[in-house]
Amino acid sequence: MYVYRISRFMADTRKLFSARPPRVVVIGGGASGAAVAVHLLRQAISPLRLTLIEPRSRLGLGVAYSTVFRSHVLNVRAANMSIFPDRPAHFLQWLRGNGFPSAGPWFFAPRLTYGAYLEDVLASAVRQARRSVTFEHVRGRATRLSNGGDRLVVETDRGDVLKASCAVLALGNVPSNNPLPTETPEPFSAWSPEAVRQLSPDTTVLLVGSGLTAVDTCLSLRELGHRGQIFIVSRHGLMPRVHVRGAKRTHWRAQDLSIESLRGIFSKVRIAARRDLESGGTWHGPIDGLRPHSHDIWQRLSLKERRRFVRHLRPYWDVHRHRVAPAVGAAIEEMRSRGQLVVTAGRIVSSQQGKSGVSQVTIAQRGGGELVVVADRVINCTGPEADARRFPIPLLRQLVADGLVRHDPLFLGVDAASDGNLIGKDGAEQDRLYAIGPLLKGVLWESIAIPEIRQQAAALAQKLLATVAEDTYGTTDRHAVGAGI
Ligand SMILES: Cc1cc2nc3c(=O)[nH]c(=O)nc-3n(C[C@H](O)[C@H](O)[C@H](O)COP(=O)(O)OP(=O)(O)OC[C@H]3O[C@@H](n4cnc5c(N)ncnc54)[C@H](O)[C@@H]3O)c2cc1C
Repeated sequence: MYVYRISRFMADTRKLFSARPPRVVVIGGGASGAAVAVHLLRQAISPLRLTLIEPRSRLGLGVAYSTVFRSHVLNVRAANMSIFPDRPAHFLQWLRGNGFPSAGPWFFAPRLTYGAYLEDVLASAVRQARRSVTFEHVRGRATRLSNGGDRLVVETDRGDVLKASCAVLALGNVPSNNPLPTETPEPFSAWSPEAVRQLSPDTTVLLVGSGLTAVDTCLSLRELGHRGQIFIVSRHGLMPRVHVRGAKRTHWRAQDLSIESLRGIFSKVRIAARRDLESGGTWHGPIDGLRPHSHDIWQRLSLKERRRFVRHLRPYWDVHRHRVAPAVGAAIEEMRSRGQLVVTAGRIVSSQQGKSGVSQVTIAQRGGGELVVVADRVINCTGPEADARRFPIPLLRQLVADGLVRHDPLFLGVDAASDGNLIGKDGAEQDRLYAIGPLLKGVLWESIAIPEIRQQAAALAQKLLATVAEDTYGTTDRHAVGAGI
């Protein structure tokens, strides 16, 4: 017995020391992928290989923080943008030491500065990680992921084949498809740097979509000194509302919101907003107060109710919930009051482009009537693609085709457990495959902004470390897993 134990111990020890450290592959190096990486690097106390696959040279920036325009500021105040849920002032302190000495909690930093913050935080996490914890950035695109026995196999467009204990999809936001009627020329994508380039200042521009992406494009044009007319058209013609300093968040109790119908919840919110307005406050508090409960509410709603929300309430929800910084609101208001910016509610019914590149776009206006806009440039500002079946991501298509991943019932992203564990075609959780960020919108609803992403990243890092520790040591002992700094 004694001999058996010793030989078993020696075999296990040999296995431990001869095996290569387990590898976690994170696919996508925008804010979500960088956040998972940071939390893994900080929490890991046993050997780990962390691989981040991202085509961009700079990590952490992704779509949102790779802008070159200084007028593109965060739509969340600095006090809520730390990447560490347990150190809420971290971003604010970083700002003060990095060129914004007087930044306060209500400061809305340039998004390019936030990108630099994420990049810096990741670089420090790499430097400070234990020696046995390594990090590599594979510059490329993951094109295929398959199950290879006890490992996942990830392939990239540059020919890498990576074996992983666990993988995380952090694929983020993808630009929406052409919103113009079929057989009309593809407009410029607002997310492409070309959208506002080589445009003379007096030309007429038509923006399709009136949300945050349209706001960004107006600000880009303004920063470039554009003087020409800017038309915005969207179904409802609604533009994002503005943050108000000092708006007090309503503290909803869970039982206040334990209603199963959307109508019931929104009637409570409306009553509370009216009460706040009547007592000299603003309508913002009751909406913001829903945030800690939004996941529970979303889970409780029937599929029919969720569908109703997405189809009918979403445009109103989006403009009230995803607001812009006061300075951005003022800039947009100034452009509107000067008559440079005109916002129309309606539907594009036809678009023809002449040889000169000028488009004639006919809009059926919501209240009746027709508006014809002759635009030198048409820019697609409809934001992220809403239908996950149309995401132009070959990896996702392959995963769905192979049954490792399925879409959520509303096709907003992918199906998963609430911890991001992906659910395959057979309805079973793929215990080594996770997602984070906007891909989880259909499951969590609130899953696109940093305050949620940082929570997901911290929790996911713990979960991944527990899984790899179990592989290596056959235990989920927290000392083998990570310190959870
Ligand atoms: C314009 C804009 C402004 C925003 N502003 C704010 C804000 O102020 N505050 C806030 O909290 N949130 C904001 N958001 C929300 C935003 O969703 C999150 O803050 C965050 O940026 C999401 O990061 P992500 O990494 O999930 O997605 P993304 O930024 O989209 O990054 C995904 C990354 O995955 C990579 N990728 C995709 N496919 C593959 C593949 N097959 N292989 C390898 N890599 C791949 C892409 O290259 C990309 O870099 C904004 C979003 C947008 C679009």
